[in-house]
Amino acid sequence: MCAMAAGRRGRRVLVLDHADEVGKKILISGGGRCNFTNLECVPERFLSNNQHFCKSALARYTPRDFLALVEKHRIAWHEKTLGQLFCDGSARQIVGMLLAECAAAGVAIRVGRRISEVRRAARFCVQTDDGDVFAESVVLATGGLSIPKMGATRFSHDVARRFGLALAAPRPGLVPFTFGPADLARTQPLSGVSLEVAAHCAKRAFREAMLFTHRGLSGPAVLQISSYWREGEAVTFDLLPDMDPTFLQARKRVRPKATLRTLLGETMPQRVADFWLPPELAAKPAGDVPDAALAALAGMLKAWAVVPAGTEGFAKAEVTVGGIDTAGLSSQTMMARDVPGLFAIGEAVDVTGWLGGYNFQWAWASGWAAGSVA
Ligand SMILES: Cc1cc2nc3c(=O)[nH]c(=O)nc-3n(C[C@H](O)[C@H](O)[C@H](O)COP(=O)(O)OP(=O)(O)OC[C@H]3O[C@@H](n4cnc5c(N)ncnc54)[C@H](O)[C@@H]3O)c2cc1C
Repeated sequence: MCAMAAGRRGRRVLVLDHADEVGKKILISGGGRCNFTNLECVPERFLSNNQHFCKSALARYTPRDFLALVEKHRIAWHEKTLGQLFCDGSARQIVGMLLAECAAAGVAIRVGRRISEVRRAARFCVQTDDGDVFAESVVLATGGLSIPKMGATRFSHDVARRFGLALAAPRPGLVPFTFGPADLARTQPLSGVSLEVAAHCAKRAFREAMLFTHRGLSGPAVLQISSYWREGEAVTFDLLPDMDPTFLQARKRVRPKATLRTLLGETMPQRVADFWLPPELAAKPAGDVPDAALAALAGMLKAWAVVPAGTEGFAKAEVTVGGIDTAGLSSQTMMARDVPGLFAIGEAVDVTGWLGGYNFQWAWASGWAAGSVA
């Protein structure tokens, strides 16, 4: 996106990538259909040490702008849920679109290049295994640390640090939780079960699906809350987000002969209901269970608190929270305040979006901001 914007301005642009093809994360994103943006993209849905930093770039290159590009290339798309836009066909169409735009703008792209150093004298010198490249501007756009198996590196962070920029400590985001042995032994029978929950942590709440896994918890609600979670904190799950805390008492009045197992099984997956039901209550007619016991059961289901042992780490994280500290960058241009000509964009920067197309929109918008001036 940055190369395209700069190329359109008539700049000579060279994209260097160590991978054998560009845009690999686009290719695997959204289950191969690329959730390329989100129509409800507001700054509040991004994490950063400076909540205001992302505002300018996001306002100047919006989801509608990206959508216009998608439509110009006649790529069929659909809104899945919660404003999330996906290709009808394949993520490869998005990479193809960006490559076509770059080609039209005269951008040169070299893949499979190892970059050993970035120095600055009168101009920047980028040392590659294929010789030195000299430039007036260098844009760091090598993403975050997630999925090293796919070629993610700390390159942008390291170069930024060498040029005197600070780092907000990187940690995995949009990542499954892992449990310690005790919680795992308890919840393993539920492995594979998914249900709608509201996940709460650090004054944030996400209402989406949660999945019990053989190592802990996953699913959109868990991935979303994981970006806000810090080690040692408890996460609270409302396993019955549509029910008020007195719903069992209300149902008991209408159907006193129904067993508690039946009543609960009507509101959540039976395996989850069975798991939480005290054995001595499960087969009892609801009418025989005191209101206080029903309230206690509902209370437990509406506030299941668990302290994850950790996360699946960068190996499984969709994004990196943290990165190049925004304090050293201009929010208008993405240029380093103290290093004229050095820019940083995308996931390498300490701006992280929610699940649902926000991270690509940040990549497009910050790339556009830098490409408009570099
Ligand atoms: C499985 C998965 C699914 C995702 N799905 C979505 C989704 O549907 N929607 C969404 O919004 N976000 C999604 N994301 C997040 C999104 O992919 C990233 O936030 C986004 O790609 C960041 O863009 P970027 O250009 O900053 O970095 P990247 O896309 O990571 O690109 C960085 C580039 O730099 C290159 N590079 C890295 N290190 C070096 C080096 N040392 N030298 C040279 N080149 C280097 C890499 O090869 C790569 O081409 C997903 C992430 C993952 C892992």
